[in-house]
Amino acid sequence: MTRDHQSNSAICRCGETTIELTGDPIQSVICYCESCRNAGRGFERDLGSPQTVNADGGVGYCLYRKDRVRIAHGAHHLREYRLKPTSPTRRVVTSCCGSPMFLDFTPGHWLTIFRDRLSGRAPEPQMCIMTKDRPEGSELPNAIPAYDTQPPRLMIKLLAAWAAMGFRRLKVAWR
Ligand SMILES: [Zn+2]
Ligand SMILES: [Zn+2]
Repeated sequence: MTRDHQSNSAICRCGETTIELTGDPIQSVICYCESCRNAGRGFERDLGSPQTVNADGGVGYCLYRKDRVRIAHGAHHLREYRLKPTSPTRRVVTSCCGSPMFLDFTPGHWLTIFRDRLSGRAPEPQMCIMTKDRPEGSELPNAIPAYDTQPPRLMIKLLAAWAAMGFRRLKVAWR
């Protein structure tokens, strides 16, 4: 089978932190929700992070099964940030160079890796999600489908991935 991309890791900007990825992502998406945009801009402002928010207000991610993700180097650099202390969603950024690495909906079985961090040729985005939150006047890429919220199509993909994992719940931890 030919692979249409060559990403086998997510690497921080300075190269000290590496996450190994096995196989293809469940899905490659662009999220236009307000939380992703606010968090990304906050990291740029407060941590000097590389830009993750596109000009149109979207953030690119590739979703991987948690059992196909391994923190290979630089685990001690990983810091988690939550928009609210009680939020189940954390965004993990490196302390070495302020690179946002992944978003983790902690009860979920998938890990949402920032597409910009992927090595090699990253998987092309397949859908735009949460477009109801996109900034007014921004144009969506029209080559891929766009959905107001989290579409059933994505939920079905996630469910199929979970079934393939034997419905296990995994935690991503590094200390
Ligand atoms: Zn780094
Ligand atoms: Zn989002």
